[in-house]
Parts: sequence; C-alpha cells; structure tokens
Amino acid sequence: MKLVFATGNKGKLREAGEILGSEFELLSSAQAGITEDVEETGLTLEENSILKAEFIYSRTGLDCFADDTGLEVDALGGAPGVFTARYAGEGCCFDDNMNKLLAELAALDEATKAGFTGEPSAVPSVPRTARFRSVVTLILNGEKHFFEGVMEGRIALQKAGCGGFGYDPVFIADAYPDRTVAELPEDVKNAISHRGQALRAMAAWLKSEA
Ligand code: IMP
Repeated sequence: MKLVFATGNKGKLREAGEILGSEFELLSSAQAGITEDVEETGLTLEENSILKAEFIYSRTGLDCFADDTGLEVDALGGAPGVFTARYAGEGCCFDDNMNKLLAELAALDEATKAGFTGEPSAVPSVPRTARFRSVVTLILNGEKHFFEGVMEGRIALQKAGCGGFGYDPVFIADAYPDRTVAELPEDVKNAISHRGQALRAMAAWLKSEA
C-alpha cells in the first residue's frame, strides 16, 4: 500500500519505514512532489497533525499521514508541548532547544534548593518527569483517522548519545532508565517510542480494514 508521510525529516521517515515494514511503500512529502512546508499554527498536537496531513492531501489527493509530536515536561507545566520544535525560538537547532530545556530545569532546581529551609539531608530536587506524545492523522480515501502514542520518561541532567534525533540525547525512557534514547539502538527506540506506538496502531488498523 502506498502512503505519503507528511515529513521532510529523514530520521522520522527511516523510523516509520522500519515500523510499518515492507507492506507499505512510504513516500516523503518531497517524493510526492511537495517541497513547501506547512505552517504549524495549531494550538494542539492534533490540530497540527491534521494541518500537515490535509496540506499533503489537498495537493496530491494521495492517501497520507502526518504526525505531530510534543515533549511535555511536568515541572514546566507541560511545556514545551506544541512548541517543542521551536522552543528556543523560530529557526533554532535541536541543540539550542535542548540547552534551553536543561537550563530551565537547572534554574528551577536552584530556586527550589535556595528556598528550602529544612534538613540538608532532605533538600528537594525538581522532578524531571516528562513524556513524548505523538498524534498521527491518517487520511485514507479522504476520511481522517487518528492514532496516539506516549513514551513516559524523564529529562536527563545532561546530553548523552548520538543516535535518534531531536531531543533524544536528553530523554531517558522509563523502559530503559540507565541511558538516554539517543544511546538506544534504533529498533529498541522504535519498540517503545510514542511514534512507534501510534504508527503500529495505524498499521494494525489499516491491515484490519484491508
Ligand atoms: P514534529 O512532530 O516534527 O513537529 O516534532 C516536534 C519536535 O519534537 C521536533 O523538535 C522534533 O525534533 C521533536 N521530536 C519528535 N519526535 C522525536 C523523537 O522521537 N525524539 C526526540 N525528539 C523528537
């Protein structure tokens, strides 16, 4: 089955190809002839994933899907969330985004410790719990269908690893608590990741419809 994945991100395309397997022929947006980017003006992950999928569908008429992913950090009230890709500002690179996140958590930690007046042995730390959430919108024969996946974990104290992409060097998944996602082999990440779960749910649904 041929499907366009509304992305120009090579890391995501490779992951999706591995997750969906050879039954699906995946084309990137560029391979489907779309070279412009859609503006992600939605206020939720779902809205942005719909925007991206509809953009491809309106221009190609092909069955397609898009994902939108957010990193939700509890100590930051769920931020960066829908702003994950541009947390350090429009046009910033992943390193800037990760540095901003680490600096904000470090500052919160400092402030918490500075305000603590109890026993030195009980000095609290800011919780670093977080999750990646992905929403996938599939447009099949003009109809929309939604799939979601969540990977629970926490933000590392510093970057480690060079696999994966995006925030992987600062994210430690609960399933592998002794290293960051960027230190996991790709197939291991795919087996537990937010996008892996959402795409496997989509693939299972597509197979059940066939
Ligand atoms: P989007 O879904 O492409 O808009 O992704 C939003 C942001 O989340 C981007 O900065 C991505 O790099 C980041 N992101 C998405 N998926 C992952 C992942 O699996 N690991 C780390 N970062 C990710």
